[in-house]
Amino acid sequence: MKYKALKGVQDLIPPEIELWQHIEDVSKAVFKVYGYKELRVPIIESTDIFLRSIGETTDIVEKEMYTFPDKAGRSITLRPEGTAPVVRAFIEHNLFNLNPPQKFYYHGPMFRYERPQAGRFRQFYQIGVEAFGIDDPKLDAEIICMLRHTLEEMGLTGLEFELNSIGCSNCRPKYRESLKEFLSGRLVRLCPDCQRRFELNPLRIMDCKVTGCIELRQGAPRVIDFLCEDCRNHFDKLKDYLQLLNVSFAVNPDLVRGLDYYTKTTFEVTTTSLGAQKAVAAGGRYDRLVEEFGGPPTPAIGFAIGAERIASLLKDNYVYQSSGPVIFFATLGGEASATALKIADSLRTKGLYIEVGYDVMSLKSQMKRADRLGALYTVILGEDELKSGKAILRDMQTKKQSDIPIDAIEENFLNRIVA
Ligand code: ATP
Ligand code: MG
Repeated sequence: MKYKALKGVQDLIPPEIELWQHIEDVSKAVFKVYGYKELRVPIIESTDIFLRSIGETTDIVEKEMYTFPDKAGRSITLRPEGTAPVVRAFIEHNLFNLNPPQKFYYHGPMFRYERPQAGRFRQFYQIGVEAFGIDDPKLDAEIICMLRHTLEEMGLTGLEFELNSIGCSNCRPKYRESLKEFLSGRLVRLCPDCQRRFELNPLRIMDCKVTGCIELRQGAPRVIDFLCEDCRNHFDKLKDYLQLLNVSFAVNPDLVRGLDYYTKTTFEVTTTSLGAQKAVAAGGRYDRLVEEFGGPPTPAIGFAIGAERIASLLKDNYVYQSSGPVIFFATLGGEASATALKIADSLRTKGLYIEVGYDVMSLKSQMKRADRLGALYTVILGEDELKSGKAILRDMQTKKQSDIPIDAIEENFLNRIVA
């Protein structure tokens, strides 16, 4: 075989594609009842928007971006996530002039140059939402509830919600200092990445996946103990709302998330059945990003669901719905074939799934195909049937056969579907 898909990407082919459509359809239906509208942003963006938002000392920016110069020498990046493009679009189209909260969802491929493994791809699909303009923990609770609703509606069970608050520009500097003080004695034993992060962005060290760093940060101060009054109130109210809504969650003070733009609420949904790549969705509040992008001060919150991980959780129990054609026309002879094709064409314009046999196939192999496709009925039409004006109608389930006037087939089936 000469050509193969690149490493870390995959083709989604039938019948599995149906599971992906299910994941997308469910999310769209659930988002709709919470008032979210679709926003479709490009796959390519100017590199700056990711540097500015995700942060220069994060894994995504340091190691994972697909960045290249275009023919005019501009630096282009294949989007590694959806929030920054949505924020860019939000400002570019003055969407902040709409009544808050402005709620949007997106879905589509993201690109990260990661080491491919189970649940980790270089092109993967995210379904995400972003809500702008309201700094009320009720919105945080609503969005977390919507995420639970979406994942449960997709068919997931055994979900665990982890929650944290990482504070704001008031309280984080104090935490930063305290964390640096704690880590300073351990600095030489941290991984080279974390040694760099120590000055640039010490919070990132709390997110490092290297075993040595995980051990070295045992007993480190926790951001949750440094929250200012506003952040603390916000977090307390959010927890109250989640209790009210029966969302069970665990506070995880280590959940700092791998992106710089978060403030206050961060959350992640994990499942026990995925092994190492166990996060199926993650999100948080980012109250400063719109302003940093040049828009008016606008609080915001969002999440993204990783579709591959959902698909791998659902695939063993998913029942494929794809139904066969309503009618399969098995024909013998040119005239019968043409008659059937006309009826089929007309029924298809009315929205019915119809298949026809092709003349290169024997009647027997046409019947076999009807069976394999799972047709509800087969209409058999040959020269004799044309002469008598009646075709043979075979109910593929009961195997019973009866006659049906050829010129009544169309009406008969249209009525049947309406009835
Ligand atoms: P992880 O800790 O697994 O690397 P992350 O923090 O980088 O996740 P986010 O940027 O928050 O992930 O993306 C949200 C979701 O997208 C994740 O919870 C995960 O389900 C999914 N995701 C992230 N990276 C990948 C990838 N390379 N392949 C498949 N899914 C991914
Ligand atoms: Mg990652």
